[in-house]
Amino acid sequence: MVRESTAALSSRNFDSRFHFTTTLFLCYQFPHHRPVRESTTAPVLQPHPDSTGLIPTPRKLHRHARTHEALFVMGGAVKLVLAGDLFLLTPGDYVNIPSGTPHGYEFADHHGKLLSWTFGGNAAEAYGVLGSAYPGTIYSEENSPVDWTVLNATVDTELLATADRHASGFAEKLRFAPNGAVPFVLASGEGERMIAADQLYTILGNQTHSDGAFIALLTEGPIGPAIPRHQHETVTELFHCIQGQMEMFAGDTYITLDAGDFLHIPPRTPHSFQLKKHDTRFLGFITPGHFEPFFRYLCEPCESYRYPLVPHPFLFDRVIQHLAELDLTILERPAGPPPDPVPAAAGN
Ligand code: FE
Repeated sequence: MVRESTAALSSRNFDSRFHFTTTLFLCYQFPHHRPVRESTTAPVLQPHPDSTGLIPTPRKLHRHARTHEALFVMGGAVKLVLAGDLFLLTPGDYVNIPSGTPHGYEFADHHGKLLSWTFGGNAAEAYGVLGSAYPGTIYSEENSPVDWTVLNATVDTELLATADRHASGFAEKLRFAPNGAVPFVLASGEGERMIAADQLYTILGNQTHSDGAFIALLTEGPIGPAIPRHQHETVTELFHCIQGQMEMFAGDTYITLDAGDFLHIPPRTPHSFQLKKHDTRFLGFITPGHFEPFFRYLCEPCESYRYPLVPHPFLFDRVIQHLAELDLTILERPAGPPPDPVPAAAGN
């Protein structure tokens, strides 16, 4: 169980099947991104054609042979090239980057902040190779050179030639991602939405998007009761509070997560969560991805982008009905009225 602040966040799980790493990095962590003070003379939210009419692609286009990467934008604006398309990422956007997909990005303003999750390969070790330990809680103003050539197969990264390209603007972000391990950018708030009681769950990445490696979920809701304590035999869960406050039970203790806090729950760890402020929002990454049906039993599909003011029924009975097929051990019954007494067997 790991709890760290966003000032320096990196957690690793060396499960041989589902190695994953989560990394948060800020716009100045890699100082050779495009200088951003140019925004004072030109709008940064539009592509800048150069004198030839070409739009420079973000630097350090690269791909990973074995690593599946997912990005979530926490702040600022980020230019991303993904499989040949140029995107302008803004907070709340989600990016799916299967292994082998050419991609590269640069921060377009001073508040760029990305959360990166990697699965299956060791590409996240590139940050340790490129950077150096830094004790500060805000980024350094120092712009020291970065030797990008250190990126190679030892950190599952292949640098690609940065080809300029013709483009008329930014590519459209998706409202709903197609199934399959394909690269995509999902616009903030979009995805497959569903309701459990008073909480809105949005599936950002389903298990098909990563060949079963993980699912990514955004959960939003008001102050409410704790979910029942439970544990998983093989499933690892990662909770990242991005707004509001939640209280987690993990192992044998309670832990409060405020915005920016992160909690890693390994398999066989009793846990639950409770939202302690209205409009709390947290990201969840769950690996492996075969736990996805749990949410389809617990939730009802919905079109709304908001959690309901009047809670829907809590469909935990549907979860109980399918318990045999889920990696889930319930350690307490849900909050609420006691269950109906079991009727006496006929003939007694
Ligand atoms: Fe769980």
